[in-house]
Amino acid sequence: MPSPLLNIENLSTSFHTDEAVVQAVRGIDLKINHGETLAIVGESGCGKSVTALSVLRLLSMPPARFDSGSIKFNGKNLLHLPEKEMQKVRGNDISMIFQEPMTSLNPIFTVGDQVSEAIVLHQNKTSAEARELTLDLLKKVAIPSPETRIDQYPHELSGGMKQRVMIAIAIACRPSLLIADEPTTALDVTIQAQILNLLSSLRHEAGMSILLITHNLGIVAQFADRVAVMYSGKIVEESSVETLFNDPKHPYTRGLLNSLPGDDRNQKLESIYGAVPHPAYLPQGCAFHPRCNEVMPRCQIQQPLDIAMSGSIEHRTACWLFDEPSQENS
Ligand code: SF4
Repeated sequence: MPSPLLNIENLSTSFHTDEAVVQAVRGIDLKINHGETLAIVGESGCGKSVTALSVLRLLSMPPARFDSGSIKFNGKNLLHLPEKEMQKVRGNDISMIFQEPMTSLNPIFTVGDQVSEAIVLHQNKTSAEARELTLDLLKKVAIPSPETRIDQYPHELSGGMKQRVMIAIAIACRPSLLIADEPTTALDVTIQAQILNLLSSLRHEAGMSILLITHNLGIVAQFADRVAVMYSGKIVEESSVETLFNDPKHPYTRGLLNSLPGDDRNQKLESIYGAVPHPAYLPQGCAFHPRCNEVMPRCQIQQPLDIAMSGSIEHRTACWLFDEPSQENS
């Protein structure tokens, strides 16, 4: 079996403040294969974005701290790379599209300057060569009239166009891994679909892998190959997209899927009782237990281990319901 492009093992990331220690990511394992799209889903505050920022080492340290684990990219542990080496990885090998296209572009530089900066910095090109490549990129991300837009400022572009520029910057150096953190949250539904189609075609064309972070299960169904569901800093279920939608196991995953609107317009949507606990004050045992309608006594004491479903390592869940002794004792 070929080795994965990204292999995260037992990663724990916490934030140490005067008030408390916030455990944002708690011992997660994740793999992304070459050319694959893995989606991480979960409610706000579950650790999705901290996981992505940990991969790129973009967290301020302190207060952030890596407590355990490794993040291997092409076999190299990114957590042990000197900062100078890490700077070459960012943008070149791994790049990121952030949530907010409206605020991620610098208002005082033209769109062209901002795209070419990445090319000049990482590819050793002259400014004339970089401008040519920038024009090609603006065409590739389907910016209308790229010859005019290249010299315009961000405020002259619509939200959808700004997000296309962000994608052009992210793919400028043909990264092997693109991290897309809620790339369509700030956009309306039609533009969302255009941006997702664009990412999908770029992925096939360039053979990129994508780590997609979203709270939108509709986007996961349409766009990803595999999915990891996160809750309170842990991965509670991971499988192929098809398996997750057809045969969800973890009560939290089932709750998320039950809260999706179906074809029946009169159907009352279900919601998950309560709210995500504050990461500094997690309950003992399974962090989901105060909200779980299948909670057992054991859940309030012991953290559930990862359990493979039907003996398949492709589908795993962290829930005591699937541990043989629990089923007997409950
Ligand atoms: Fe619910 Fe227990 Fe499973 Fe947690 S371990 S999700 S509390 S059944």
